[in-house]
Amino acid sequence: MSTRDRNDPNYAVTAALEEWTRDWELGKTFLHCRHCGTLQTFHGGGGGQPFPAHKDKCLIGKRDKHFPLYELRAALDTLSPMTP
Ligand SMILES: [Zn+2]
Repeated sequence: MSTRDRNDPNYAVTAALEEWTRDWELGKTFLHCRHCGTLQTFHGGGGGQPFPAHKDKCLIGKRDKHFPLYELRAALDTLSPMTP
């Protein structure tokens, strides 16, 4: 990766998305914890709820309540628009 790439305003977004993707898989109608396999579906406004309980041995389940979709949204909010 070049210095120019690291100075790109969207580099931080890419890094945030890479980090998010390590823990989460976004499906068409669900969100999936890559560590324990717990699913949160989008039906019934589920995306606005905390992520359901992870399985006992899940590493990220030991952290505080999660709102992974909000984290994803926050990362995307910092994305700079493409200029032609
Ligand atoms: Zn989990």
